[in-house]
Amino acid sequence: MSPANRLSGQVALVTGASRGIGRSIALELAADGATVVVNYASSPDAAEAVVAEIEASGGKAWRYQANVADEGEVDAMVKAVLEREGQLDVLVNNAGITRDGLLMRMKTTDWQSVLDLNLTGVFLCTRTVSRSMLKARSGRIINITSVVGLMGNPGQANYSAAKAGVIGFTRSCAAEFASRGVTVNAVAPGFIATDMTKDLNVEPILAAIPLGRMGQPDEVAGAVRFLAADPAAAYMTGQVLQVDGGMVMR
Ligand code: NAP
Repeated sequence: MSPANRLSGQVALVTGASRGIGRSIALELAADGATVVVNYASSPDAAEAVVAEIEASGGKAWRYQANVADEGEVDAMVKAVLEREGQLDVLVNNAGITRDGLLMRMKTTDWQSVLDLNLTGVFLCTRTVSRSMLKARSGRIINITSVVGLMGNPGQANYSAAKAGVIGFTRSCAAEFASRGVTVNAVAPGFIATDMTKDLNVEPILAAIPLGRMGQPDEVAGAVRFLAADPAAAYMTGQVLQVDGGMVMR
């Protein structure tokens, strides 16, 4: 099978796919032949532009608005995908936010909103999608965590707790789902050039990255594409693949 159609006939749902890393993941999976459902929360025009870009390259995609921190909206989204496509083969839990601040002054709402989307959202989407994947005895789930979930980061206690939680969640689900042919892995980006990082002071960050630069969204998407589409990834589950320019070596 040619590398360009490994996901032909498959359906992928990418959360937070209107911008940044999620947008690149949507484009990569569509390039591999998947029909991509572009989830977004508040940027319909950007989501539509992703759909248009995929269609202009001969791919298939449609968009769906849902707040993935909301149980009812997640259930409705997955139901809509299954009704329209009849199957769901790849789930990429990518949607995420930051609400940074030193712990002493961190508002409870900033703690809660980050946990709600970055961790509970991953739980809600995975739980709902797992029902059809386990029944089909196949599927690939990829969770976007962060190197901050491995190493911690001052000013990001909420974000690093959520991202560390995603790693534990990934491993538990991998162990639960393995006997039914469903793999669950995580990708941990370092610092990637997106809206999320555009206001950071990059000088000290670059000094800590052996490759000496920020990563690009398509470099994260390439790792996701491997886990979602490559036949060789069928024997990988419960793993955390770092895409961080060598920033965190363990
Ligand atoms: P981004 O450019 O800020 O994009 C965030 C995406 O998430 C947007 O598509 C946004 O949709 C969506 N989103 C926000 N709230 C949502 C909600 N409640 N429900 C559904 N979608 C929602 O972020 P990014 O840098 O691409 O980050 C993507 C993922 O990578 C996140 O999980 C992030 O934590 C992780 N990550 C990023 C970096 C980095 O350096 N950038 C590093 C490590 C990990 P709308 O446009 O509709 O708001």
